Amino acid sequence: MTKAVLITGGSRGIGRATALLLGARGWSVGVNYAHNLAAAQETAAEVERAGGRALTIAGDVADEANVIAMFDALERTFGRVDALVNNAGIVAPSMQLADMELARLKRLFDVNVLGAYLCAREAARRMSKDRGGAGGAIVNISSAAARLGSPNEYVDYAGSKGAVDTMTIGLAKEVGPQGVRVNAVRPGLIDTEIHASGGKPERAAQLGAQTPLGRPGSADEVAETIVWLLSDAASYVTGALLDVTGGR
Ligand code: NAP
Repeated sequence: MTKAVLITGGSRGIGRATALLLGARGWSVGVNYAHNLAAAQETAAEVERAGGRALTIAGDVADEANVIAMFDALERTFGRVDALVNNAGIVAPSMQLADMELARLKRLFDVNVLGAYLCAREAARRMSKDRGGAGGAIVNISSAAARLGSPNEYVDYAGSKGAVDTMTIGLAKEVGPQGVRVNAVRPGLIDTEIHASGGKPERAAQLGAQTPLGRPGSADEVAETIVWLLSDAASYVTGALLDVTGGR
């Protein structure tokens, strides 16, 4: 039976590239999205063209009931859950912490931290061998921001990714004995629409040129690392924080 994965924020950007690559490897892919159904449907169609099976799954990762329903939908359709790509994440417009409103901070931490924790919790509940699962793998999508701090842009976002790193380290130790590997990928400046949502569509191109490799990365390049971490080729890798940053 083919393996089944839930990709949060699987409809666009890094999540979409990961969905397509896993589809090409024959996985069954749950393509989660929050708002843009058309993008999710287009990605699901591409996954199927690539050779996998796909299911679009609406849901806000910051909502516990939504998260449980997302995993239920995956299991109902594909009969199993083998992996989570904990990818959904947001940024807000660049400014100093001194200028950030409470509502912005709350939503940022709700999606990037609470959402990541809820999804990882649900995956751990369903995949851990001592809870009746068959083992599996989780890849959390963090950011190089976790170690850079993102001053004058978004220290809220950077801190949220620091939490994702720490959760990766702790959860890997909790569920390793239960057959579940947990790793994080920390992308650098990757060419996706997230920068426009933070008010700077040219950010990846401009800052990417200053990295040691002299360019931004592509979503496909991050997806390659995620798919490797999910695969048996990474069978002895857990608790790792893997930078995909062009040396930044
Ligand atoms: P993106 O292009 O903006 O795509 C974001 C995806 O997340 C979309 O599928 C979106 O769905 C979904 N999403 C947003 N809020 C959600 C929520 N509350 N619940 C469920 N899904 C939600 O982003 P990206 O650049 O691919 O980023 C993916 C991950 O990589 C994020 O965690 C980001 O922090 C991280 N990252 C990105 C970069 C970079 O340079 N691009 C660098 C480091 C880390 P809808 O369209 O339906 O809203």
